[in-house]
Amino acid sequence: MHVLQFRGPGELTLEQRAAPPAPGPGQVTFRPTLAGVCGTDRAIYLGRYHCEPPRVLGHEAVGVVTEVGEGVTRLRPGDRVVLDPTQSCGRCDRCLRAESSHCANKSALEIGVGRDGAFAQLLTVEEQALYPLPADVPDRRGVLIEPLACVLTGLRAAAVGPDDRVVVLGGGPMGVLSALLAVRWAARVSLVEPDPYRRELAEAVTGLTPLAELDESASPPPTVVVDTTGSLLEPSLRTVQDGGRVLLLGCDTAATATVRPFDLTGRCVSLIGSCDYHAQVFPAAIELIRGLPCEQLVTDVFPLTESSAAFELLALGPGSGYGAGKLAFAP
Ligand SMILES: [Zn+2]
Ligand SMILES: [Zn+2]
Repeated sequence: MHVLQFRGPGELTLEQRAAPPAPGPGQVTFRPTLAGVCGTDRAIYLGRYHCEPPRVLGHEAVGVVTEVGEGVTRLRPGDRVVLDPTQSCGRCDRCLRAESSHCANKSALEIGVGRDGAFAQLLTVEEQALYPLPADVPDRRGVLIEPLACVLTGLRAAAVGPDDRVVVLGGGPMGVLSALLAVRWAARVSLVEPDPYRRELAEAVTGLTPLAELDESASPPPTVVVDTTGSLLEPSLRTVQDGGRVLLLGCDTAATATVRPFDLTGRCVSLIGSCDYHAQVFPAAIELIRGLPCEQLVTDVFPLTESSAAFELLALGPGSGYGAGKLAFAP
C-alpha cells in the first residue's frame, strides 16, 4: 500500500509499505477514503510543529472498515467510520479529571502526529478511535468532524450564548466552522478575512458577508472575539467590549504579542486559549455536523501521489495568496 511519510521539514515522500497485519484483539483496520490536511500538518511540514520523523501524517479522516479483530463489537467490515485521533491514556491525573485533551501521555498517542496516521491506504487503530459515520453525513462533511470538535470545545470554553456579538478573525476552515456554529448560538456574528478567495468561500458556506478588515471601533463592540489565526491577540484585545472574552483558537507557533495586564484586569476581559478537544466532545461533534452543511469547505481532493501540488496550494510561499479551503487526500 502507499503511505505519505514525513521524513523531516520540507520532505514528504510517497512510499510503498506492506499492508498492516490482521488487526489484533480490540483493533480495527480501515481504509481512509478522505483524509484532511490540517494547519498542524502544514506546520509539521514547515518544521514549526514538533513531530518525530519518520511519520505517516493525517489525523482528520473518514473511511470504511475492512477488518476487525477479536472482541470488537461496535464495528464490522463495510461500516463507514470517522477517526477520533486524540487518544488519551485514561489513567493520568488529567484523564481522571475528564480533561483528556491535556492527557500527560497524549503526545505519543495522537494518531497522525505521535504515531502513524491516515495519509495511507490502510490504517489499524483501537476500536475506540473510530465512530460510525451517520449515513446522512457525506465524506466531505465527515472529514470536518475533528476540526469541528476543536471549535466546539473553544466556543463552549468562551460560553458563547444568545446575548453575544461574536467577531471571528480568519476565514480558514477553523474560522468558517467557528462562524457557522456561532451563527446558531449568538445574537450577531461577523467574520473578518483579508484574502478575497477565502472571503468568497466563507460567504458561500456561512451565508455571512465577511469583512476584509477588523473594525476596532465598531459600536457596539463585540462581546466575544475569536482569533482563529493565532496572531491577532493585540487587535482582539483592543476590539472586545469591556467584560468580554477573547478566544484564541488559532495555532501560530511563531506569533508573539505584547499585553498590558491592566487591560485585562481593569476592563475585566477574559483571555481563553483552546486547542484540541476532550474525548466526550467528539460524539457531540458528529451529531452536530449532521445539521451543519459545510462540505463546500473541502475545495480540493488529491490522490496521495499529488502531495506536492496539495501542499503548494496551502500558501507555502512567502506572500502567496490562498487558493483553497480545506484540502484532503483520497488515499
Ligand atoms: Zn487537525
Ligand atoms: Zn492521560
